[in-house]
Amino acid sequence: RAKSKGNNNYQIYTSSLDAETYKSFTLETDLRKALKLNQLELYYQPKICTNTNQIIGAEALIRWNHPEWGMVNPNEFIPFAEETGLIVEIGKWIKETVCTQNKAWQDNGLPAIPISINLSAHRFMEKEILADISNILQKTQLDPKYLEIEILESSLLDNETMILAILDEFKKMGIRVSLDDFGTGYSSLSYLQKFKGRIDTLKIDRTFINGLSRKDSDSTNFITKMIIDLAQHLHMDVVAEGVETNEQLEVLKELNCNAIQGYIFSKPVPAEEFAALLQNSKIKVETAPKEEVKVT
Ligand code: C2E
Ligand code: MG
Ligand code: MG
Ligand code: MG
Repeated sequence: RAKSKGNNNYQIYTSSLDAETYKSFTLETDLRKALKLNQLELYYQPKICTNTNQIIGAEALIRWNHPEWGMVNPNEFIPFAEETGLIVEIGKWIKETVCTQNKAWQDNGLPAIPISINLSAHRFMEKEILADISNILQKTQLDPKYLEIEILESSLLDNETMILAILDEFKKMGIRVSLDDFGTGYSSLSYLQKFKGRIDTLKIDRTFINGLSRKDSDSTNFITKMIIDLAQHLHMDVVAEGVETNEQLEVLKELNCNAIQGYIFSKPVPAEEFAALLQNSKIKVETAPKEEVKVT
């Protein structure tokens, strides 16, 4: 790599700038520009209560509106942003945008819901993250209970003492924490006990939801049921990720899963579109049902 980590300096090779170097060089330059030129955008995907069909939360998902490539998905640039350290700046932008947006929606009378952001494993371990979050909450005046952090199950497998300490700080701050892509991170079930009271929600990974079916030919329904029961036992909420079909939704309801997220209700959408969804999801005042008058 013709690039030193974490800063702006490039070693210039006079003879051979190979394709990969060139690509990452432009990618880094472009990504820096993207921040300055407001090409980064947050989309919001609702989390739905399976009983009431109402929006009970949302996840903020980053998009890069690139002038030549169009909408670029996070999997294509977040790993690179992490590698170069650009994630620090991008992460601050994400937190500030989400908190500002959520506060504005609440001030405009939209239902108050927690909105989550994704923290990459190594960002989660960084000391400044706590100060960053508390500064942003202070600045935006968002009630901390409406900010949620999604961390990957796999990031719990690191330095345990430190992770528990960070989670305790989150708790003190009053923000919510969920475990993303749960079931794929190979944490043992007994290990999870340590996080009781420290993690609010388990998000069941999409790979399990994909496999749900009426027939349950493999054990996916059973495993999903186990995760739901486990969450309940640990006093955690549970959200099924990537729900796409009615069949999946029906099975999840039968398994007592009370919240879902997925294309079946809505893809991640731009802020204004999400605000409209949220507006329509407001609790409607139920008028007493009219008594049926039988006409004889
Ligand atoms: P994730 O946090 O597990 O997010 C869920 C991903 O599943 C999103 O992809 C979402 O668009 C997609 N999804 C939601 N419902 C469905 C569905 O019904 N079917 C299918 N096939 N997919 C569905 P997206 O937005 O491309 O994000 C991918 C991953 O990139 C995220 O996985 C997250 O790990 C990461 N990511 C996204 N935004 C950020 C960010 O702001 N910061 C960091 N560090 N990572 C982010
Ligand atoms: Mg997530
Ligand atoms: Mg996920
Ligand atoms: Mg994921």
